[in-house]
Amino acid sequence: MTNNLFDYHLHSFHSPDGSMELETIVQRARELGLTEICITDHVEVDSSYGDDWQTSPETLRALLNDLKRMQELTNGFVKKGVELGFPDYNPGTVKDMVSLVNPDDFDFIIVSLHQYHGISPLTDTFFKERTLAEAAAAYIKEINERIREFPTEYYDVLGHIDFVVKGSHGYDDPSLSLSFFEEELRELFRFLIDKGKSLEVNTSAYRALPGHKLHGLDWLTLFAQMGGEYVTIGSDAHKKEQIGYRLADALDLVRAAGIPYFATFDQRQAIMHKVK
Ligand SMILES: [Zn+2]
Ligand SMILES: [Zn+2]
Repeated sequence: MTNNLFDYHLHSFHSPDGSMELETIVQRARELGLTEICITDHVEVDSSYGDDWQTSPETLRALLNDLKRMQELTNGFVKKGVELGFPDYNPGTVKDMVSLVNPDDFDFIIVSLHQYHGISPLTDTFFKERTLAEAAAAYIKEINERIREFPTEYYDVLGHIDFVVKGSHGYDDPSLSLSFFEEELRELFRFLIDKGKSLEVNTSAYRALPGHKLHGLDWLTLFAQMGGEYVTIGSDAHKKEQIGYRLADALDLVRAAGIPYFATFDQRQAIMHKVK
């Protein structure tokens, strides 16, 4: 038996690093036979990436209008999502995020770490004094601090815990191993599970691995052992050819890890799908 496939992490032109029209995303997702998709554009405050990354109320309104239009047009095939970036200087600017965003406007919210004390964790600067293992641990350690200052009603899952793989680390094989950051992940998973939250399996990191192999079985297994019951799965596509990328393989990984469900969302309520 196989599961229906859902892509729960997609970026349109409403993201500063995206260019796809919503129609393009929908058309491609339909071609791929996906059951449902969730468009999750970036919303950031206090961004060190420049003015483009500072989401204004007008940008957010335009995004919401477009999502609502497309949800109606597709009879709910499109869910209204968003990827909120942790503000860089916690806790001061969390209140800017809180005053900008109404979480009830969305079906699903990812929170992600994209900046680390004024720099991107993908840059040479970040990796200058860190091995890949140290970078992975530093990234999760930072999330462990940020997430405690971030209101729980403002997210459903934590995005891409393997984000550093996509950085300029100079490794031929940047696969992450649980041993790099087990202590940090245990702390993070405990927090998420206790709060009734989860993490996503983000397939975009696989594109950075040799032969586009998968990684993450070891930390997903730990998540299951600690009581993690579900994840969401998304491609983080910014381009048409990335939509739906390796969703079935990610589901195989989730099954192998012993996680019993994956989730989709409707008005912030998780809908559980048994992993077959
Ligand atoms: Zn992200
Ligand atoms: Zn993203």
